[in-house]
Amino acid sequence: KKIDSTSRNHMKQELKRNQEYKKHHRTEEQDDDEDIVTHLPKPMIGFGVPNLPFFGPRRNIPPDAIGPPYFYYENVALTPRGVWPKIQRFLNDIKPEFVDSQYFGAACRKRGYVHNLPIQNRFRLLPSPPDTIQEVFPLSRRWWPNWDKRTKLNCLVTCIGSAKLTDRIKKAIEENCNDNEEPPSHVKKIVMEQCKKWNLIWVGKNKVAPLEPDEMEELMGFPKNHTRGGGISKTDRHKFLGNAFQVDTVAYHLSVLKNMYPGGINILSLFSGIGGAEVALHRLGIPLKNVVSVEISEQCRTIVDGWWRETGQRGNLIHAQDVQEVDEQMLEQWISKFGGFDLVIGGSPCNNLAGGNRVSRDGLEGKHSSLFYEYYRILECVKSIMRGQ
Ligand code: SAH
Repeated sequence: KKIDSTSRNHMKQELKRNQEYKKHHRTEEQDDDEDIVTHLPKPMIGFGVPNLPFFGPRRNIPPDAIGPPYFYYENVALTPRGVWPKIQRFLNDIKPEFVDSQYFGAACRKRGYVHNLPIQNRFRLLPSPPDTIQEVFPLSRRWWPNWDKRTKLNCLVTCIGSAKLTDRIKKAIEENCNDNEEPPSHVKKIVMEQCKKWNLIWVGKNKVAPLEPDEMEELMGFPKNHTRGGGISKTDRHKFLGNAFQVDTVAYHLSVLKNMYPGGINILSLFSGIGGAEVALHRLGIPLKNVVSVEISEQCRTIVDGWWRETGQRGNLIHAQDVQEVDEQMLEQWISKFGGFDLVIGGSPCNNLAGGNRVSRDGLEGKHSSLFYEYYRILECVKSIMRGQ
């Protein structure tokens, strides 16, 4: 079918916008194509994921890194060159376990996890979340065109597609084809590019929409409405969810703690955000005895507080704000009060590393990402205090 000149203009503009966008933002998928990180494992299954056989290398933990305290550090897998080797060197030279959360649910999320947890007899949370987009959004089936072949979403990030964009997509399709006809391939191509980049789903005839916060909660393994209430805006809910742990993935790794701590666990949760670590442990049925949660965002602290009350936790929840202010004296106090931390867990900000969230790519030394060194400092301090106990 012949394309009229206005829609050709539209398309040109779209392509230009696309190129502009690419200059400033990159999604993880695009990063994949660039030579930013070398030697990321494929498939990205770490020391195994449920339902897939694993014949990978044996793991070796240096004697001085054997827990307790156990530690678990997370960050985005795709970073500028040299970032993960450096993180590894600081954390007892333990190789990161790179895992894509697409093996735990319907959205990709490529992350590295450096930890000293055992890896035998892991188990996953039940019920398992839906595995494909189609299962998560059964109602979208009716509107899903057969030329959109996606079964998994891209990484859920902190910002969402605009209403303008979804309008433009509808127009581009409708101006270029009659009812029940497939759009021409160049239109399909642009539409698919946008859908993948912004994680858009079909919600009406030729109509796409970004994910709603409660849909993101489900995909990330959080309880429904976890981030709702307290006057928290939709934009902020997206931001917090885009930064969070994928609960099913992290819980799989933490599941080995269940037999070790039947009476409950004391955790130091750094950069707690909306409490991905806390939610994972709770859903595993590991009682939370004492939780020190360090998080600078007041709204995030409110969310974790609300969850703590709603789930009827019987342990202690202590909040602190800035990791940079957590000093030896505070750690000594907590440790003597609780008899030590069993787990030090956290993922420091990735804004200078990679992903759709980043503000710049100055690497680990960037303003936000350098907070990794705080994780390292605090972990070393905890270990040294506990050694002296
Ligand atoms: N794992 C968390 C999210 C980690 S994102 C979850 O499951 O939700 C990194 C978090 O670090 C963000 O919530 C951010 O607000 C917080 N943060 C940034 N700077 C901080 C600082 N100086 N002290 C404590 N937390 C900080």
